[in-house]
Amino acid sequence: MTGFGDIIGHEQIIEHFKSALKNHQVSHAYILNGENGSGKSMLAKAFAKALVCEAGYGDSCNMCRACHQFDSGNHPDVKWVTHEKANSIGVDDVREQINNDIVIKPYSSKYKVYIIDEAEKMTVQAQNALLKTIEEPPEYAVILFLTNTLDVLLQTVRSRCIIMNLRSVDTKMIQQYLMQKYQLPDYQARVCAAYAQGNVGKAIMMATSEHFREMQDFLLRLLKRVDDMEVYEIVAAIHDMTAYKMDIRDLIDLMMVWYRDVLILKATEDINQLVYQDEHKYLQKKAITSSYEGLNNIMEALEKAKIRLNANVNFDITMEMLLLTIKEN
Ligand SMILES: [Zn+2]
Repeated sequence: MTGFGDIIGHEQIIEHFKSALKNHQVSHAYILNGENGSGKSMLAKAFAKALVCEAGYGDSCNMCRACHQFDSGNHPDVKWVTHEKANSIGVDDVREQINNDIVIKPYSSKYKVYIIDEAEKMTVQAQNALLKTIEEPPEYAVILFLTNTLDVLLQTVRSRCIIMNLRSVDTKMIQQYLMQKYQLPDYQARVCAAYAQGNVGKAIMMATSEHFREMQDFLLRLLKRVDDMEVYEIVAAIHDMTAYKMDIRDLIDLMMVWYRDVLILKATEDINQLVYQDEHKYLQKKAITSSYEGLNNIMEALEKAKIRLNANVNFDITMEMLLLTIKEN
């Protein structure tokens, strides 16, 4: 089941949708802008369901035929725009699935909803083809653009939509959600929530992925030892790390959580503020042996490594430089 009540965070956006529904002031086009995993699809689903729900009081009732149809993925008046090519939404996709379809009245609801996920993949031609439609849409039409990069949408498109920017969700809320919904122990939930930095999808991914847990265990073993490792051992560790090459950005984010903990411990000596509370002995050791300057160098090296990997600089070289900086500081 989907509903506004199942979403954590994004209170303002939900409020906006609910009052638009209640006051019959629904706009024809919305852009939901936020990074992957931030909750765009959840919001779009909850809104679409409330739009087609027969009760029509600002949220879905979960009782009516429309709600049941929606939950089974078969509501005829809610359309997810698909695309032939994996990396682009072309002009034909838009014409066939939106422009030619939107003129047909809704089958059973007051509204007809089109959801364009990954709208940043729309070509310029596709966006231009949509312009007229979002300029003069039929009364019942609602188009939802979901995107992680607002800038890719043409100004002419953006100016005709209500733009909703998703904000990061409170870490404590995410932690509690993971404990309740996924029965995670509080230690694990805290790590996932901290790592996710306000992104609920990321937190859930981490909480439920075996691969991710393995990666984290590998990394913790490495970080506990790296200061005492010889260069040849570091090279061997980097070799082992290639198993996680696809997730290297996550790995670096986790390293940042670790060294942020070291910094917090150095500055406050307060274990309760740490993400990796159970590892405080190791964190303490690093907090004592490193200076603020040294820890700052490590944080900078982590940022730099991220940039280098984004620019496709050699993986082994980047990681070697990073680990040596960690060791030397
Ligand atoms: Zn309903």
